[in-house]
Amino acid sequence: MEIKEVFQTKEIKKTLEILEYYQHQCKIIAGGTDLIIQLREGKEKPIALVDISNIEELKEVKETAEWIEIGSAVTFTQIIGISYLQNKLAALVEAAASVGSPQIRNAATIGGNICNASPAADCIPPLLALDAIVVLQRKNIIREMHLEDFITDKGKAALEADELLTKIKFKKLQINQGLGFSKLGFRKALAISKISTAVYIDREQNNRCKEIRIANGALGRCGLREKKVEEYLLEKTLDKTTIHQGGIKLKEEIEKRLHGRSTVAFKKEAVIGVFQKAFKKALECCDTEGSI
Ligand SMILES: Cc1cc2nc3c(=O)[nH]c(=O)nc-3n(C[C@H](O)[C@H](O)[C@H](O)COP(=O)(O)OP(=O)(O)OC[C@H]3O[C@@H](n4cnc5c(N)ncnc54)[C@H](O)[C@@H]3O)c2cc1C
Repeated sequence: MEIKEVFQTKEIKKTLEILEYYQHQCKIIAGGTDLIIQLREGKEKPIALVDISNIEELKEVKETAEWIEIGSAVTFTQIIGISYLQNKLAALVEAAASVGSPQIRNAATIGGNICNASPAADCIPPLLALDAIVVLQRKNIIREMHLEDFITDKGKAALEADELLTKIKFKKLQINQGLGFSKLGFRKALAISKISTAVYIDREQNNRCKEIRIANGALGRCGLREKKVEEYLLEKTLDKTTIHQGGIKLKEEIEKRLHGRSTVAFKKEAVIGVFQKAFKKALECCDTEGSI
């Protein structure tokens, strides 16, 4: 089957009409950095493509009193350039900056990274740690769901054929809340992550852990939360011992999850360092003033 039509729309409404008409025979293309390869390899065989990279509404990043909203067609280069994200959300910027090369980051979008649902997608762990919500739109219906529920398996997201991911939103961070990110790749440039970890901490005045979310990439079939480690760390005093114990607990989880895989020996050890780095950055971020 060949691609017969390529649409380039400037409106969400028009995009949704095209998706409704073609259903499973149409693919959305944003930056094309994943999709073009899948088309070349014959893994995707649509008869139509709809290019969303010129829809201004999808390319906006908005800050409201409580939320940050990132349009699905926002590129990683755009995220890196937003000054108000550099403070409390430096970890998200760091994750964006770690993607591929400058050329890839100029084209690759946050929405494409999420919808492609690769286990190694770098923006997924920080967004899971932020408990981000995805906003999905089809003709006459808008629905929201937690990113955690949206990504269902390796390469799979709970996206209907006629649906468009329009934005990703998450609550702004306050003082005593922090986000940290760390990634281990193989090469400096174009390194698809071997392990990436994001940690969100809400810390009480007495240095107790009020809330924690830990998310990993490339350590399972898709980016996922480490709920057992979170439970273990909840309400503990946040000090060197806790960070160390958290790393050991995570190692045990990875050992169980990756049992039988060739990478288990390396990953179960390496994850400790990656986790501890992300954890320390999250703690430093808790001290940073500012509401984002
Ligand atoms: C050389 C190279 C290096 C890379 N390095 C990294 C890396 O280090 N880290 C990393 O995480 N990724 C990396 N990637 C992968 C890739 O760049 C990202 O996954 C990228 O963010 C995908 O975004 P895109 O806009 O290019 O998506 P596209 O390729 O346009 O689309 C990807 C998928 O998402 C769907 N889609 C896109 N937007 C929407 C939407 N708004 N609503 C519904 N569905 C949508 C498409 O239909 C398609 O199925 C690399 C890729 C290459 C080629």
